[in-house]
Amino acid sequence: MRVAEARITIVLLTAITVVVGATYWLAARNEAHTPLTIARGAGVVGGAAACVALGIAALHQEVRRHRRRALELARQWILAPGGGSNPLAKDKELTPFLTPLRQRVDELTAKADTLQVQKKNLEIQLRLADAQRRQSQIMLQGISDAVLITDGFDELLLANPAAASIFGFDLAAATKKPISVLLADKPGSGDGASRLAADISDMRQNHARTNRRTAEYQLEYDGKLRTFSVTLTCVIDNTDQFAGVVAMLHDRTREDEISKMKTDFVSHVSHELRTPLSSIKAYAELLVDGEATDDKTRSEFYHIIQAEADRLSRLIDNILNISRIESGMTRVHKKPVALNGLLKQVLEVAMPSARDKQITMVDQVSPVFFSVDADRDMIYQAALNLVSNAIKYTPTGGTVRVTLAADDVTNELTVLVTDTGVGIPPDAMKHLFEKFFRVEQNKNMAKGSGLGLNLTRQIIEAIHKGRMIVQSEVGKGSTFGFALPIAA
Ligand code: ADP
Repeated sequence: MRVAEARITIVLLTAITVVVGATYWLAARNEAHTPLTIARGAGVVGGAAACVALGIAALHQEVRRHRRRALELARQWILAPGGGSNPLAKDKELTPFLTPLRQRVDELTAKADTLQVQKKNLEIQLRLADAQRRQSQIMLQGISDAVLITDGFDELLLANPAAASIFGFDLAAATKKPISVLLADKPGSGDGASRLAADISDMRQNHARTNRRTAEYQLEYDGKLRTFSVTLTCVIDNTDQFAGVVAMLHDRTREDEISKMKTDFVSHVSHELRTPLSSIKAYAELLVDGEATDDKTRSEFYHIIQAEADRLSRLIDNILNISRIESGMTRVHKKPVALNGLLKQVLEVAMPSARDKQITMVDQVSPVFFSVDADRDMIYQAALNLVSNAIKYTPTGGTVRVTLAADDVTNELTVLVTDTGVGIPPDAMKHLFEKFFRVEQNKNMAKGSGLGLNLTRQIIEAIHKGRMIVQSEVGKGSTFGFALPIAA
């Protein structure tokens, strides 16, 4: 039943009830008021009233059902994705409310669609940025110099393992941490780290004035104070906005050391060359000026010139040999070498100078049948250096013993040269193999350049993968030697 029909039914029922009630009241007005007539009258009126009540209840229910249906239609229309025509367009009460609601829903749906697209774009950009970041990190890891990249708040954006290791921070946990916290000074190592952090911050604040700066910082790393050359660069993005500061740290300690070593080497070489040259020049001048009046003096001067020229030549040979070995340019001809024969030859060559000082040469070169894989000339040179040193630094009447032994355990042949010489003070021991080093206390015993032991070590350790042996006691004597792997 529709609402309009229900309304008509109610009106009719009410009218019938009124008519019946009124007719009955008129008819009953002249009747005697007996209990029967009263009861009949009440029944008729009651029945009519019940009909009206039932009608009203039915109407009420119908109205509620109708509203519910209308609201459901309104809900479906408002929430329908495409909208379409209003199914309640004829409903003059609801339509003024529904139409703006539907428009609002359309607007919000359009907005949500736009936001969804924007969200997708952002997700793609985020993934892209993430991939780029990972790629940058991989590239940064490959750079041997330390790199730090900070943002507009002086917080770390990116760094590489070299930087983490220098400043001692955990790379994984360092992102977004303030650079001043990450670059903390180590106790007793100066203020290099905190100065660098302050300069990064200063660079960010003054990026408009300068966008590149280079400075040097002393930082403690790997157990020593090192010099880092640091380039700070401001990064400006494509909208001309400040994006960050890149700090690139280059450890130049080794370069500085090499440069100093080169300078020292040149000054040492010049000094060492000057001594025999001055001698040669002086004696040559004496001869030219006729200062040597007799044959004996002249012969003495010739011998001095010859000895100094030999010394000069040995010095130049040593320098060239060391430099060839260090630069890897030396030609090595390795083949099995029997050390017995080689040492006998060395002893023979050294004998005249030993005899001059009444030094007893003890030959303890046992007949060893093993040989070493070696460049004969080089090993000869190394052994001769040790034997000549033993004679040079042993006072007259001393003893020099040369030993050769095979060690089955280490699979090595060991050559030892033991003397009863002046010995070496403990503090000089660690410098023995440095170029141009000479023990101050022993300088007056013999002439020398301080290159012999360095060359010997280069020959034994760098070329033949052997090892040097040194023992010494001041006043008692020294043992210098080397061990080489037995040839297979
Ligand atoms: P040099 O040409 O001065 O002998 P070396 O490099 O051969 O140069 O030796 C370096 C220094 O080591 C020498 O100046 C000397 O002071 C010390 N030295 C080397 N061998 C001995 C030794 N057997 N006894 C004492 N001192 C030695």
